[in-house]
Amino acid sequence: MGEVVYARVPEPLKQALHGHAAERELTLTRAVVELLERGLQATADAQSVSELEAKLAAASSEREQTRARLREAEFGLQAAREREQLTARTYSALAERSRQQLASCPQCRKPVCGRDLFVRGRCPHCNKPLTSLLMPAPRANLDSNEYLALLGALGVLVGLALATANSAG
Ligand SMILES: [Zn+2]
Repeated sequence: MGEVVYARVPEPLKQALHGHAAERELTLTRAVVELLERGLQATADAQSVSELEAKLAAASSEREQTRARLREAEFGLQAAREREQLTARTYSALAERSRQQLASCPQCRKPVCGRDLFVRGRCPHCNKPLTSLLMPAPRANLDSNEYLALLGALGVLVGLALATANSAG
């Protein structure tokens, strides 16, 4: 035996229920139970479908965000690679330059290159300090402190370029 539910329904709905039951040769109770079960199931299904749709939408948007972040990371990596290549080319050009003859030793007159001048600071042949070659004649518009600072920075850079070029090849 089932439970009893009293419900007031509009007249047309009651007639439709009777018609429905008669067409299928069901008792009115059986017809009402089946229709209610189907109605409840359909409502539950519709809810779970909309929940699934919401979850799918959230997952799609998360995936789009992940893709966007991945693209940003790829662009960043590409830019970093290009900077690295540019730095490597700059260093190898600087290393190459520093091996060129730049002056003659003021003592033995043998050729000295940029590396001797900026990094070692001495003639490779007679070991004479080469600082005199780097000191320009005094000029009104030359800031000698700035000039010496620039030479120091250049020496560090040439040393770095030589180390990088040597380790690379
Ligand atoms: Zn010398």
